[in-house]
Amino acid sequence: MRLVPVAILVALVLAVVGPRGADRPPPPARAPAVSAPPRLAPTPTPTPTPILRRPSRAVGLPWAGRLVHGRRLPVRGPGYATWDPIRKRVPNRAWRRWGTSRLVRIVSRVLAEYARGHRGAAPVLVGDLSRPRGGDFGPRYGGIGHASHQNGLDVDVYYPRRDGRRGIARRPDQVDRDGAQRLVDAFVRVGAQKVFVGPSLALHGPPRVVQALVHHDDHLHVRLRGT
Ligand SMILES: [Zn+2]
Repeated sequence: MRLVPVAILVALVLAVVGPRGADRPPPPARAPAVSAPPRLAPTPTPTPTPILRRPSRAVGLPWAGRLVHGRRLPVRGPGYATWDPIRKRVPNRAWRRWGTSRLVRIVSRVLAEYARGHRGAAPVLVGDLSRPRGGDFGPRYGGIGHASHQNGLDVDVYYPRRDGRRGIARRPDQVDRDGAQRLVDAFVRVGAQKVFVGPSLALHGPPRVVQALVHHDDHLHVRLRGT
């Protein structure tokens, strides 16, 4: 038998199985040379877009209502700290600190002004407002609970102490009555609908607004008008 020339044999093998690596994808084409991008002037920092927050609404009544799009009072601010009336310590838990934006604004403003008039004084303690969506804030949330505080219009503010220390007054004789009266006056001036005060403290104001109520010898309770 005649020998097939080697060149023909190789050609036949290549025709059947293909050259080595024929199944591999072709190597990537070399990227064409790109000229350096033109130098751009630095982009100015964009002005932050204001976050549009839906207005908060007090729905229903302070003792049968709810809170829509409430705001949370910061854990502390100029002139105030928050107080957890159940755990009896600073600060208050976040879910107990919700109110309408107007209530949060007014509390912050009144207590900052009070602090400016009482340099070096301990921060005033702010207790409960409402729950994040308002509603029942009764005994199942601790202590004797609140009959009201349901629609973001109520807030408890503890009287300053006579000895100037931070903390709540355990007895009426520990209350700084002058300071307490100035707080009452300040909340009356900003248009509070009610300021409930302790029967033992002889705090006063317009009788339709400032009223004595049991369980208020260590704090005043401010209620704003609904909007
Ligand atoms: Zn209250």
